[in-house]
Amino acid sequence: MAEVEHKKERILIVEDERRIAEILNDYLSQSGYEVDHQDRGDKIVELVKKNPPSLILLDVMLPGGDGLEICREIRKFSEVPIIIVSARIDELDRLLGLELGADDYICKPFSPREVVARVKAVFRRSRSAPEAESKLINIDDEKNRITVNGVVMDLTPTEFRLLKLFASKPGRVFSRNQLLELCYQQEQLVFDRVIDSHVKNVRKKLSKVLPGQELIHAVYGVGYRYEVKPADE
Ligand code: CA
Repeated sequence: MAEVEHKKERILIVEDERRIAEILNDYLSQSGYEVDHQDRGDKIVELVKKNPPSLILLDVMLPGGDGLEICREIRKFSEVPIIIVSARIDELDRLLGLELGADDYICKPFSPREVVARVKAVFRRSRSAPEAESKLINIDDEKNRITVNGVVMDLTPTEFRLLKLFASKPGRVFSRNQLLELCYQQEQLVFDRVIDSHVKNVRKKLSKVLPGQELIHAVYGVGYRYEVKPADE
């Protein structure tokens, strides 16, 4: 089968550092995308309303506007994929907690190749992921049962909640704190690294059903993401 061409998806780069914008522009253009660039925050919401791009790469610190506020505003009227670009890794956890509705987060300094890969992944998820996932994983809430690849999983209650949460939001990045809050009763006091051991156990159980395929991916400095990757990656 011939390789599927991009239908000239248009990516809007909102970035005030000229050098970074240029590099992103080069790499994304070479990958077959159409690219627009804006270096200020104040006109972005209007611009997206008038001429919606296929995806937005959004810097946080911008002259004339705050990237987080822009993201929130856009989400009020559009589901366009948004990748937030943060200058600090230790800020990512806070950003996740804000529930901005962004599709992914990238931290500076980044490799342009990685950005291209993440852009492709976001496009892929917004198109075809649900189909692949529904075949792979089935959640039966009434019976508290998760079936993966046709096999009923033997999970503890916490592992069940964890896997259910991940599978219900494919592609979404969860911080350890978020996972703890969502998986534990509030009165329990636990340290956020506890979640790592639960994730490890879920991964181990999944690997028996899906050898060689990873569904729960660590996101450096932040937490975890559930994603079904096509076989060629
Ligand atoms: Ca900036």
